[in-house]
Amino acid sequence: MNCSPSMTSSKQTVHKVESILPDMNRFISEQVKDPFICDVMSKIHQSSSDMGTLSKKFPLEDGVLKYVGNSSNGISKIVVPAKLIQDVITHYHCSPTYPHMGIRKTVTKVGEKFWWKNMKSDIESFIKKCRVCQFCKPVYQKPSGFMQSTVTTAPWEVLAMDLMGPFPESNDGNLYILVITDHFSKFCLLYPLKRATGKVLASILRQLFCVWGACKTIVSDNGPQMISKAVAEICILWGVKRAFTTPYHPQSNWVERVNRNLVSMLCCFVAPDHADWDKYVSEFMFALNSFKHDATKFSPSKLFLGRDIKGPGEWMEMLQDVGGVAHKDMLAAAGRNMGKQREHNKVPFDKRRSKVKVTINDRVLLKSHPLSNLKRNFSAKLAPKWRGPFIVKAQLSPVNFVIESEEGSDKRIAHVEQLKLIL
Ligand SMILES: [Zn+2]
Repeated sequence: MNCSPSMTSSKQTVHKVESILPDMNRFISEQVKDPFICDVMSKIHQSSSDMGTLSKKFPLEDGVLKYVGNSSNGISKIVVPAKLIQDVITHYHCSPTYPHMGIRKTVTKVGEKFWWKNMKSDIESFIKKCRVCQFCKPVYQKPSGFMQSTVTTAPWEVLAMDLMGPFPESNDGNLYILVITDHFSKFCLLYPLKRATGKVLASILRQLFCVWGACKTIVSDNGPQMISKAVAEICILWGVKRAFTTPYHPQSNWVERVNRNLVSMLCCFVAPDHADWDKYVSEFMFALNSFKHDATKFSPSKLFLGRDIKGPGEWMEMLQDVGGVAHKDMLAAAGRNMGKQREHNKVPFDKRRSKVKVTINDRVLLKSHPLSNLKRNFSAKLAPKWRGPFIVKAQLSPVNFVIESEEGSDKRIAHVEQLKLIL
């Protein structure tokens, strides 16, 4: 399996989606052929003195070798045979439900259910070499506006409503995505829209309140749809307060972060003509809700629903859920974690940023600045964030370098901040 995009002459990335978790029979049949696993199994069968510790660490459950290790929660994970490692990583990194998340998040996700020796370094080297990630991951920008100042103590207390777009008209006629995010749990709901009128938004809110109940406050900008009569009426009916932000005081980090992650996911899976950008919006919603969040240290679904939501193939009967924390305790822990994150965010951005190191003959990518042209169905937001590869030819100053494209047709001077190393 391979999730690398093929490069075309226009330097666009073409994504190929293919991945499904091997089923349990495949794990069983590959485990018995795997030298490491066979070795562990035979030691468990033969040794009498070691048997206690080894079989506790590697329990054999219904013919499948599991790993418990030293963890106190006692969750047993499937030992992945060497032959299936690439399949497991591909599934948890390259499919729309796990759309090219970073190293830390992917390691955590895979580690909840699986184990193998060198898992962390295998995942790290896979992602560092992933072409889609190299070309599409956004440049990390200084958080704009004010720091996250909203403080909530329970899910569904404060919701943010944000409209993204217009994007180029998709094959299904969509132009926008409405993003609704719960501040406490970070649980989000995404709605691709053909039209973004007040009436459309009001009907979504009505359905939302009927399924999940009324929230206390909705935060949005003061765009015409947001301040429309239809939205105002549904909020009055359900007793929901409104709070508005302006372009000069944008929504705080928690909304921007969802938007940034979402754009990055769209970019990883969009075809060069940008007409299928809305194809996997539902899967991206699953991803945003199922990965552990940096601020709360829990997945949004766990905080919001009290359980993790299962991905494709995860109904496999041998996969255990990571559980054990009462919902009440989890909510309290999430509140404390968010407080710590707020403190961390106050550290100046520059202090958190590591310096870029570039040397002669390095292969690098150059930051790309495409312009949107909706008439030509091209959205800068969805385009790759980097282009290249280039070779570093000379250093002019501590921060300026001469770079040349691999085929030699493009030679230019670039600032170090516009460059990133590739493997
Ligand atoms: Zn990737």
